[in-house]
Amino acid sequence: MKSYALLGDEAVALGALHAGVSASYGYPGTPSTEILEYLLAEYEKGGPVARWCANEKTAVEAALGVSFAGKRALVTMKHVGLNVAADPFINGSLLGIAGGLVIAVADDPGMHSSQNEQDSRFYAAFSLIPCLEPRHQQEAYAMTREAFELSERFQTPVLLRLTTRLSHARAAVTASETRPQNPVSRAKDKTHWMLLPGYARKNYAALIEKQQDILSWSGSHPANRLELDGRDVSFAVLTAGLGGNYYEENLADLVKARGGSVPARLHIGAYPLPADLIQKLSEKAQTLLVIEEGQPFIEEKLRGILPQGVAIAGKRGDGTGGSGPVPRTGELDPDNVRKALGLPPRPNARSSLPASYSSLSLPGRPPQLCQGCPHGDSYEAIKRAVKEIDPAENHPSVAVTSDIGCYSLGAAPPYEVPESIVCMGASVGMAKGASDAGIPYAVAVIGDSTFLHSGVPGLIDAAATDTPMTVIILDNAIVAMTGCQETMLPSSKLRGLILGAGVKPEHLLELEAKRQLLEENTARLKAEIEHPGLSVVVFKRECLEAARKHRKK
Ligand code: SF4
Repeated sequence: MKSYALLGDEAVALGALHAGVSASYGYPGTPSTEILEYLLAEYEKGGPVARWCANEKTAVEAALGVSFAGKRALVTMKHVGLNVAADPFINGSLLGIAGGLVIAVADDPGMHSSQNEQDSRFYAAFSLIPCLEPRHQQEAYAMTREAFELSERFQTPVLLRLTTRLSHARAAVTASETRPQNPVSRAKDKTHWMLLPGYARKNYAALIEKQQDILSWSGSHPANRLELDGRDVSFAVLTAGLGGNYYEENLADLVKARGGSVPARLHIGAYPLPADLIQKLSEKAQTLLVIEEGQPFIEEKLRGILPQGVAIAGKRGDGTGGSGPVPRTGELDPDNVRKALGLPPRPNARSSLPASYSSLSLPGRPPQLCQGCPHGDSYEAIKRAVKEIDPAENHPSVAVTSDIGCYSLGAAPPYEVPESIVCMGASVGMAKGASDAGIPYAVAVIGDSTFLHSGVPGLIDAAATDTPMTVIILDNAIVAMTGCQETMLPSSKLRGLILGAGVKPEHLLELEAKRQLLEENTARLKAEIEHPGLSVVVFKRECLEAARKHRKK
């Protein structure tokens, strides 16, 4: 047995390799990117297929094809990517999965690099499929292996839920034997792969029938650990994911503060929720504190199934909303869990400083574009063009929408150009809506990779009606924000794609994003924004980070 020092993400990748995965797909997104990067490096050395995809939906669809051929497939994405992949993901639960299909989703509580804190456990519950939530790197490795077995056993996809601190922290992992890949196999009856209403009804009934078996599995899973014997049941604790680690960090002090009594506890790492274990824990409990990373997923379910006499405390306060002792937003950590347990703060480096020092605070370091980033030159031209078109304060006749990528930072000083940033690809649709609503100058700003991910359908909508708006594509020839992955199509193919969507060649403009060309770029961009129909302007220049990496290679 070999040991490795792995990030949580890498432990998932190694677990998949050792489970006999045949193909892995994904779209880069923090904090999940390192899973597929590890597998891509293995692929380059002759390992199983690993590919970035245009978006998370196409990634899940490719994985379904692998599974139908009898082989094992892994899909990786960040939490908001699961919204993009929701269609094949949710429908996937109605299919008779053949080769194991595991969807590894990394949630980002605290929004370190995301637009929301959504909790992927809701998706697993909604789709009626098993979900595993590791609490350390060794479990990430073992649960990934197990997820493939489960997927083949229950013939459903299995969701593996990670969170930022686990994904990005490194720890020792002991690996076990590598399982060979499944051979290609073809099913005789393929009706369970077709969601025509007649077949889908049967498949849905089959999924419902599996639920009792899935519940029995989670009820006896070793990651769902009930600690009841010799424990104080008047105050019980239910932990999940990393919340369990933070609880344990504070346990010695908690026991001391309670005069030696150890609270009863249930830790949950496998879903659906083990109802029997929860019932046992709550039979005598007067108060139950729920410590879970993410949204109050467990807490909300408990409020419906526990006896009235048990007071539930967690993120939702009195159960009607608001906040309880565990913070409702942001990440958990040992300190806020300690506070929720009613313990005094631990002494830290700051508290041991003299009073005159302890009040000092470090200056904030908001994220910024790299010095010399091509997006800076593009935004400078956009800002000037907008100001020339509408010099009034806040430019009421202009709407500039933007998207997800390094260029989102154009919303911050000194540019402050976009008025809206929502989700991947949304800039194009929002600009169309602004134009349809009567705003004379609607402008969408989108990166090349985001455009390929989900901006193209919006452009087709705009081209179909020749909507008076301008789509500005910031083409830096790379997926910069997540660590410079290659885009799905090189810059040279963008022109053909845009013209193929129906944009008129005379209103497709390609500009070099350079400071020396600022005057000229501003004038040409302004003319396209003022054109009473659809236009596309592509600002081109390679990302500095990508150029540095390419030179190094
Ligand atoms: S990584 Fe590239 S695209 Fe991102 S800010 Fe830096 S230079 Fe610009």
